[in-house]
Amino acid sequence: MLSKCANPTCSTPLVYLREGKIFMVESSDLPREASVPALPKKPSRIEHFWLCGNCSTDMTLAFDCEAGVQVVRKEQPPKKVLRAAAS
Ligand SMILES: [Zn+2]
Repeated sequence: MLSKCANPTCSTPLVYLREGKIFMVESSDLPREASVPALPKKPSRIEHFWLCGNCSTDMTLAFDCEAGVQVVRKEQPPKKVLRAAAS
C-alpha cells in the first residue's frame, strides 16, 4: 500500500522514508470500516500514507468523515515568488 506518494496525481515512488512525510490514520476512523460489520479481530489498525518531499511541502493529508483521507493543499498563503534580483 505504501509504494508511492499518497497524492493521486503524483507518481513518485516511495524509496526513502526520510524524504517526505508519513501520516498514520487509524483505520477504525475510516468510513469504509464503519460500513463493515464489526469484526471480532483487532478493532483497528493503523494505515500509513506517505507524501513525497515535493508534495509534502505544499500538500497535507486531511481526514474527512465522508471521503476518508484526502490530499489537500496546506492552508497557507502562497509562497512569495522570489525572483533573482537583477543586479
Ligand atoms: Zn508526491
